[in-house]
Formats: sequence, structure tokens, C-alpha cells
Amino acid sequence: MPTSNVIDLVRGNWQRVQAEVNEAVASAGRGDDVTVVGVTKYVGPELTYALYQVGCRILGENRPQSLWEKYDWCANQGLEQPEWHLIGHLQRNKVRRTLPMLACVQSVDSLRIAQTLNAEAARIGEPIQVLIEVNVTDDEEKTGMRQEELKRVFDLLPELAYLKPTGLMAMSTHHADAQQLRSEFARVRELRDSLEAEFPGVALPDLSMGMSGDFREAIMEGATLVRIGSSLWEGIERDR
Ligand SMILES: *Cc1c(COP(=O)(O)O)cnc(C)c1O
Repeated sequence: MPTSNVIDLVRGNWQRVQAEVNEAVASAGRGDDVTVVGVTKYVGPELTYALYQVGCRILGENRPQSLWEKYDWCANQGLEQPEWHLIGHLQRNKVRRTLPMLACVQSVDSLRIAQTLNAEAARIGEPIQVLIEVNVTDDEEKTGMRQEELKRVFDLLPELAYLKPTGLMAMSTHHADAQQLRSEFARVRELRDSLEAEFPGVALPDLSMGMSGDFREAIMEGATLVRIGSSLWEGIERDR
């Protein structure tokens, strides 16, 4: 188990991050809440669980294998599971093992994975909350759907009855300046607005955008979930 000293560091970072996020919400003139998803990919199971214990209820992992490891670790210790969100690419052959561990798949980045998730959720008889990952950058390498595929997913949504999309997720261009960040995040919000207008009955309140380096810009543009990793692990030896 991490020493109480390490837990204090995790708690201090968690409180600092929350304060910074609340400050950003206030200076954006917003009255609503922004939820911090604690990204735990940098640390092992013990530190991951320490973050949950100090109050971060939603944890994000980007690799299915790391999620399995941490989920099994909690189960073996008899510990309550955090609310796990997958925030990275999910291969179709990992859907069966991963889905039962998840509260939300934030990274639905293709029609094919949407269909596979829907089929598996139908098989086990439990709908799954998802966010649709969109690519609003000029970077072809980046994951996420572009406009055309996005439209196809929403066209087909009536057939995907076990998917419960509640919003969009996006990553900004690495090292973009503040102005470019703002315009990329604004683009996500505008996409959401146009999807809601085009597909009546679809509600997409969640916008998952912003990380340690750009959550302020994301919050200015309407983020409701920010995915914070490195800032939560500052000053902590990360090998547990
Ligand atoms: C790692 C990661 C984050 C967190 O990034 P930090 O810069 O460490 O805060 C957020 N989202 C995704 C998809 C990630 O892979």
C-alpha cells in the first residue's frame, strides 16, 4: 500500500486540480459543473486506487490491458470498483472482456467499433453509455471520426439500441496555441449542436475535452468532462 505520505501527495494534487478546474469554470462565467476524470495510465494499481480513495470517482484508462490489470487488482483485494471510463482505442477483439468493466466508453472512434459494442451490450443485456470520439484537427493521424462517418453513426443509431450516446469526446492538436485550442474545442461544441439539430431525439449534453495542458481552453468552450492525468501525478514516484 502507498504510505500515508504518498496518499497525502495524491490528495493534495487532487484538491489542487479541482480548485484549478473550479477557477476555470468561474472565469468562463459558467454556473454548471465540470467533472474531472482522473487519468491513471501513468501509475500502477495502488496509486490508481489511492486517487479513487481521496475522492476522484471517475477514472480513465487508455489501454484495455491496463484497465484489466487494475480492475482485477481491485477485485482481488475485495475493493469497490471506481467508475471506469475507457478513453483510448478499443480493438474489437477486446470488447467482450472489457465491456463488463466499464461505465462508459468515451472513445468510440469508428462505426465498426460502435456496432461491435452494441452487439456485445445486446448479448449481455445491458446498455452501455458512450461518447463518440471526433477528430476536429487537421491531423490525419489522430483518432476520432470525421464528419461523414459521424453522420453515418447517428443515421444508424436507431439500430444500435444498446448504445447510449451522451456526448462527444475529442483531443486537441499537440502543442497548439491558445487560439487554435479554443477554435478546435469550439468546433466540437458546434458539431454537437448540429448533430442535436439534425437528429431529433438525440441529446448530447457531455463534451469530454481538455487535458492537463488545455483544460482551461476546453472549459471556456463548454467542456463538461476534463480528462486530467499528469497534473494529478506531479511530485509522485509513479511506479506503484
Ligand atoms: C493521457 C490522456 C489524457 C491525460 O493527459 P494529461 O496531459 O496527462 O493530462 C487525456 N485523454 C487521453 C485520451 C489520454 O490518453
